[in-house]
Amino acid sequence: MSEKPIAVVTGAYRGLGFETCRQLALRDYRVILTARREAEGSAAASALQQARLEVEFHLLDVTSEESMQQLARYLRASGSRLEVLVNNAGIFPDPSPDSGNSAAMRADIETVRAGFETNTLGPLRLCQLLMPLMQSRGRVVNVSSGMGQLSEMNGGCPGYRLSKTALNAVTRILADEWQGSNVKINSVCPGWVRTDMGGKEAPLTVEQGAGGIVWAATLADDGPSGGFFRDGESIDW
Ligand code: NDP
Repeated sequence: MSEKPIAVVTGAYRGLGFETCRQLALRDYRVILTARREAEGSAAASALQQARLEVEFHLLDVTSEESMQQLARYLRASGSRLEVLVNNAGIFPDPSPDSGNSAAMRADIETVRAGFETNTLGPLRLCQLLMPLMQSRGRVVNVSSGMGQLSEMNGGCPGYRLSKTALNAVTRILADEWQGSNVKINSVCPGWVRTDMGGKEAPLTVEQGAGGIVWAATLADDGPSGGFFRDGESIDW
């Protein structure tokens, strides 16, 4: 069995998650590429294996307690050292801002709730389950968004915005609870990236967007914890 540290990435069969897996595998992690879609997830892992990268697929739906427990059991049994968790899986639950229907005053509360389930509570639950498996060294990256910044908060898209603001609070709370350890947790905004979620007009490539995520996933032992970063630079909450 490989002695490489393990990195788990959620929502990783496409977009930023997939590219994060690729970049982490290039940096000598044994990457567990997770997705809630079996066929897409295994095809994505196979594509990286064909490039001689050490990547395996594991099924994971971040809204399912059983699915998250199953991943934790698998990691506990694997005997390898878990070092990195990238909470990347995310949804944009609101109607498109261009539709004129994304105002908070008209938001469907179930839609807002769905944003929290995937974007906030999934990451929190995975932290509860997986951070204790990080022994002497751990790095958690919560993939957040500038749309969750209170300092830049505007109207519209409450499901997405609230879930990412709350995700940033998860980062701060857990960083405080884990201070003094070598387990670091940070929020990262990847910037506006050309993915299914970001759309074709976005200025950044997935390589560029994933760069900031990988930076936080591979911080040195004297690196920060409890911060919010874009492209390796601290940004306001
Ligand atoms: P994509 O829509 O391409 O990827 C999102 C991924 O999350 C998909 O693989 C999706 O899979 C997965 N996912 C959604 N729900 C679940 C779930 N319950 N369990 C497991 N996987 C799930 O978007 P991006 O790559 O752009 O987004 C990645 C992250 O980056 C997100 O957290 C997003 O909020 C954040 N981000 C993106 C920005 C951008 O400009 N692109 C800007 C700022 C932040 P499925 O097909 O199964 O739904």
